[in-house]
Amino acid sequence: MSFDTLGLAEPLLRAVHEYGYTTPTPIQAQAIPTILSGADLMGGAQTGTGKTAGFTLPMLHRLMAKPAVRDAKGRLPIRALILTPTRELAAQVEESVRTYGKYSKLTSAVIFGGVGMQPQIDKLRRGIDILVATPGRLLDHLQQRTMDLSHVEIFVLDEADRMLDMGFIHDIKKVLAVLPAQKQSLLFSATFSDEIKALADRLLNKPVLIEVARRNQTAETIAQKVHPVGREMKKDLLVHLIKENDWDQVLVFTRMKHGANRLVDHLLSKGISAMAIHGNKSQTARTKALAEFKTGDLTVLVATDIAARGIDIDMLPHVVNYEMPNVPEDYVHRIGRTGRAGAKGEAVSLVCVDENGFLRDIERLIKREIPKEIVPGFEPHPSEKAEPIVLGRMVIGEGAGRGGQRHHAGGGGGGRGGHGGGGGSGGGRGGNGARSSAPPRAQGSHAGGPHAPGPRPDGQRSGKPPARLNPPKR
Ligand code: AMP
Repeated sequence: MSFDTLGLAEPLLRAVHEYGYTTPTPIQAQAIPTILSGADLMGGAQTGTGKTAGFTLPMLHRLMAKPAVRDAKGRLPIRALILTPTRELAAQVEESVRTYGKYSKLTSAVIFGGVGMQPQIDKLRRGIDILVATPGRLLDHLQQRTMDLSHVEIFVLDEADRMLDMGFIHDIKKVLAVLPAQKQSLLFSATFSDEIKALADRLLNKPVLIEVARRNQTAETIAQKVHPVGREMKKDLLVHLIKENDWDQVLVFTRMKHGANRLVDHLLSKGISAMAIHGNKSQTARTKALAEFKTGDLTVLVATDIAARGIDIDMLPHVVNYEMPNVPEDYVHRIGRTGRAGAKGEAVSLVCVDENGFLRDIERLIKREIPKEIVPGFEPHPSEKAEPIVLGRMVIGEGAGRGGQRHHAGGGGGGRGGHGGGGGSGGGRGGNGARSSAPPRAQGSHAGGPHAPGPRPDGQRSGKPPARLNPPKR
């Protein structure tokens, strides 16, 4: 199938061809005609499937087909609103809007927290057709009456599951309350919990349901490998892998922010350029790190899970799980940064004995065993015994997976993200990260059963284990 058959306007096709796309991805092939028809849509798709172009292209087409009516002051009304959970994702979605809309006359802006309000107010005052925003800052503008959403014709809720995980449900409801009742609404989510379904019921009108394979079913283009490694040898093994293999662009995941910082220090001490991207970093630092990484000036970008949401770098060759995620779905999200849209990629996991339980849970989720390969000189010593892993205020017991003990090491399980404690990458007001009003999760041991995702070590709430459209057979 080619893009030309989907019914998109010529200026959009020109931009798509120029960008190098020839064939629509499955979500694009289904979503584009649906959205062009004016229907509401519930899309089961995650980052890496091409969903951004899947909703951006038909959205641009519909806006181009119907010229904007300027208000009494001669300003353009905002006609399309895209809400995203994180600042990085918002910036990237807006970049896509500009890329695909370069031969249209439509204008766009991106708005998120952690940066000054005034430039955003100035931009809004000049008038824009399409707004991409994170919820917190959007509400700030609404409260200050520096934004009018009463003319929105198309509303997109992107990565709705992550939005809820990050505690944005009340903010979303507040935004919905100011949008016109008559509009086209599109909701994208990788998973469908009861909460998402309730939100979809409220937002969508007779939606067309489109679901594309989850990343864990389509990861054939990603070569996955596990290097069992001694607990204290991980950082040296990473340096070894980067130097031996001449890796020049590596995205490395840690579970915790301070772990990311320590790793960056180590890499720098070994002459490898590296920066960390996580919720405690200023927006400017995060933007700089991402920009340098994208251009190839920076060899290693070290990220925590939430900070990495929405990072979209074409054909990223290497992803390293320096620490295994305690939430198995995060593994799928992490390795989805490589091997994107058909490109080949490599995902390497450095697994010490404490993390074998996490690894087992991940293998169960992706329904395959990941090949293990010892790197001589870095193997775990046979006497090394599994020790509990401390995740923020949580300690996950020996084995850290099926049958592992989960203790609550004092304090609430995350709760409302505030200074220090919350610190995610969400577009929270004043840069405070995600907010949540949900009560702390019940804690306890999960002997025997697969463990539920716990509070995120970087302060973000992972929420209830979401129901999948296609639940994996355990
Ligand atoms: P997304 O799921 O929207 O984050 O897109 C994932 C990646 O796929 C991005 O790097 C896009 O540039 C790329 N992409 C999207 N659509 C296509 C396409 N039809 N052909 C090739 N690459 C694509």
